[in-house]
Amino acid sequence: MLKRALAVIAAFALLTQAACTPTEVSLADPAPLDTDVLTDTQMTPESLAVEQGDESETSLGEEESAEAEAEEEEEEKAEEPSEGEETSRSPVELNIITDFRSNFVHGDKDAAHQKYIMLHDTEGWSSPANTIDWWDSNGNLVAAHFIVGTDGAVYQCVPLDKIAHHAGYGDTGHNAYYGISEDGRDDMKGTVWVGSWASDYGMNAWSIGIEMVHVGGSGDYPQAQLDALDALIAYIDGYYGFQSTIIDHKAWRSGNSDTSPEFAGYLWNYQNYRHH
Ligand SMILES: [Zn+2]
Repeated sequence: MLKRALAVIAAFALLTQAACTPTEVSLADPAPLDTDVLTDTQMTPESLAVEQGDESETSLGEEESAEAEAEEEEEEKAEEPSEGEETSRSPVELNIITDFRSNFVHGDKDAAHQKYIMLHDTEGWSSPANTIDWWDSNGNLVAAHFIVGTDGAVYQCVPLDKIAHHAGYGDTGHNAYYGISEDGRDDMKGTVWVGSWASDYGMNAWSIGIEMVHVGGSGDYPQAQLDALDALIAYIDGYYGFQSTIIDHKAWRSGNSDTSPEFAGYLWNYQNYRHH
């Protein structure tokens, strides 16, 4: 079990990433890797089954912690600068729980190599903490930088200056379409070829990945989760000093389930207004 550090971070303060350096996080012994079964597909049916079965293992401590954070978020609302939409908004304070895992780091990444924020659904109901444990134990070396729980808890398991494997292969031609290249910064460990129809592999090295705990077809996303995602997008924008283009996983690779159809309206809002 990793020591978890709670970083309380104001959504719009331009903070250094000092609290998010791997050296400040104690890392447990990495899980043994089975390179024969590695895949870069984020959510396979196998992972879905395990995640759902995992649900009962959520610890009360983590839930209580998440609830406390959600309450703090409710209490400490601040004024958000207008992005051109008429609706006045009161974003929540962002509390990021860091739980960095060395297995998820696939290379260095800086602001010069940041273009996209990719949104995903986990397609399971495991808590963010349990999802990170699952990702770390399955040997796939696949993870997103952040996971946003249904209660608004935000976990980060990969630093912003590191490449995570959350996008995998994209449709052939998508490197050019998205203006990115495969430049060798991504170590591609665990990557498995998925076919000539999806041969492009640049997105991981040019993006930040966010997973939302959600199952497609299950209904709307909770308000607390959307509020937290608003704050997280603002935080990432502030970290880089510019607005990354927001896309979802299925835009990169046809056939991916995420994000779900019920997110479509929110996705449009995020792409146009930076919040849901
Ligand atoms: Zn995905």
